[in-house]
Amino acid sequence: MNDCLFCKILRDEIPSVVVYENEYVKAIKDIDPQAPFHIIILLKEHIEKPADITSENCNYIGQAALAAAEIAKQEGLTDGYRLVLNSGSMGGQTVNHIHMHMLSGRNLGWPPG
Ligand code: 5GP
Ligand code: ZN
Repeated sequence: MNDCLFCKILRDEIPSVVVYENEYVKAIKDIDPQAPFHIIILLKEHIEKPADITSENCNYIGQAALAAAEIAKQEGLTDGYRLVLNSGSMGGQTVNHIHMHMLSGRNLGWPPG
């Protein structure tokens, strides 16, 4: 057991709105959405940040991208979406458990702010 917020959500100790789940990921609605559609795909492995991805655990990231493609079909996101991985403080990461943002429902600017 650990005190990590996203591990607690994965264990259902903190409630969340689940959009999609399989053995590798749990995708939930973001509590502070930045677009009409904004979910975070939590990896079911406590890797702190994208910089800690290794050849041993990288399958989880592939599974998250695969889940996003499935979610896009499930949710009818035919006009596209954005996947984001924030790593570390300069990358804008605020929760130290790896997660993939999936945003859609409006035109997203580039470059990001
Ligand atoms: P980060 O800034 O680390 O890339 O993203 C963390 C995300 O988690 C933020 O978009 C934030 O709104 C979201 N978040 C933080 N706490 C909670 C929570 O308790 N529940 C849910 N569903 N999302 C959360
Ligand atoms: Zn965790």
